[in-house]
Amino acid sequence: MVATSPPAAPDWDYAPAPESADVVSIAPRYGLFIGGEFVPPADGGSFATLNPATEEPLAKVAQAGQQDVDRAVAAARAAYDGAWSATPGRERAKYLYRIARVIQERAREFAVLESLDNGKPIRESRDVDIPLAAAHFFYYAGWADKLEHAGFGPDPRPVGVAGQVIPWNFPLLMAAWKLAPALAAGNTCVLKPAETTPLTALLLAEVIAEAGLPPGTVNILTGDGATGAALVAHPGVDKVAFTGSTEVGKEIQRAVAGTGTRLTLELGGKAANVVFDDAPLDQAVEGIVNGIFFNQGHVCCAGSRLLVQESVADTVLDRLKRRLGTLRLGDPLDKNTDIGAVNSRQQLDKITELSAAGEQEGAQRWSPACSLPNRGYWFPPTVFSGVSQAHRIAQEEIFGPVLSVLTFRTPEEAVAKANNTPYGLSAGVWTEKGSRIFWMAQRLRAGVIWANTYNRFDPASPFGGYQESGFGREGGRHGLTGYLDA
Ligand code: NDP
Repeated sequence: MVATSPPAAPDWDYAPAPESADVVSIAPRYGLFIGGEFVPPADGGSFATLNPATEEPLAKVAQAGQQDVDRAVAAARAAYDGAWSATPGRERAKYLYRIARVIQERAREFAVLESLDNGKPIRESRDVDIPLAAAHFFYYAGWADKLEHAGFGPDPRPVGVAGQVIPWNFPLLMAAWKLAPALAAGNTCVLKPAETTPLTALLLAEVIAEAGLPPGTVNILTGDGATGAALVAHPGVDKVAFTGSTEVGKEIQRAVAGTGTRLTLELGGKAANVVFDDAPLDQAVEGIVNGIFFNQGHVCCAGSRLLVQESVADTVLDRLKRRLGTLRLGDPLDKNTDIGAVNSRQQLDKITELSAAGEQEGAQRWSPACSLPNRGYWFPPTVFSGVSQAHRIAQEEIFGPVLSVLTFRTPEEAVAKANNTPYGLSAGVWTEKGSRIFWMAQRLRAGVIWANTYNRFDPASPFGGYQESGFGREGGRHGLTGYLDA
């Protein structure tokens, strides 16, 4: 008889499945998109945009200064007066449909470029960011010729030139959220993408040129916070739309106060994801994971505070930990990756600092065993239990893959704890009882409330917050309000 050695333990690891970066061609240097063409910045300044997963530079982009802001606003004004505001809605719709179609046609290119510049997993840029960006253009194309039937009076007029400043967490999607309703309503735009993620906005500029929009209808200025500050304070801008931090939102509010410029602000959040003991717990665990670890937690409406009913807290925490052990962190271009890179060194420092504060204040920190790549900006999925309401990690927006777990006993206590925040952007409720969902929804002070799901977006749904989460709504019919003089 031949002796045999025991069979080797099966290797259940996923093989690498990287998406090819060959579908994108990144130019070494980009200009500003003003008046329908790419032009160099007046003072020739530029900065590099990096791949946060490797820290390697991807391209140099122009740094727009005051003169460039003046030029872009003038181009937008000329386009507004010259062609766009007088273009009938049914014609404007055609341009928006065209943009949507080209985004769809070039979806793979957009997705890879977004993951390279932002660090988010390709699975998310491919399945969420890019399709939703196209959907926004489709959706608002549908409104362009129906504005007089939208409840804004018989003859709603565009506002004029919109100055729009967007963040780095959903670069193309935020550009679509800003541009699509503005253009549908007949406004012209000057858009400033975030310093760390300008590339998909610049590709969108190409698409806009390809779609044949009248020159100057959309202008795209890359730059830093100073460019954004110059844009929002420009006297030629009639409407400012901003998504980003509450701190900068307040600065912008001060800058436009008393000028007559219209303003909408979509700012931070510290959402409660509330799990009752009658909830389907396995589904709730998936919702908790999606709520806080989607896009590395760089989500203004992230479910960053888990409020779980005390009687099921241990069970939920055990199942959550088991589930987190299966998440794969690494190369954003790998189709199996769940958690990509943190967008910048600055954001990684902030997440690291707040997580250290959580430990110092006495919460228990836990992360699954997971090795971080040697280069790039990475943070493991992290759960803090034993968190009290006074802890910084229960109050401040971390904007990273860090979950704070608190418990409650009664629905009243859940509401009190959920509302104990300066923000009011979103919340989640997990329970099998419809009546309890309505009871909670009436009492939670949040602009968006998800029931037995989380982080669901649709262009037809309005999105926006209360308190320090800002004001105004984006998406849906409501999203037209800021761009129309009714
Ligand atoms: P910011 O609010 O600074 O950035 C948002 C956008 O505003 C960027 O385009 C930025 O340019 C621009 N900007 C910066 N300063 C000014 C200014 N004074 N006037 C006009 N525009 C300006 O967010 P950060 O990127 O600094 O992130 C900081 C924190 O903000 C995060 O840790 C997170 O907590 C929160 N945040 C919330 C977001 C949300 O969706 N609610 C999105 C992003 C961040 P530039 O990129 O060049 O700085």
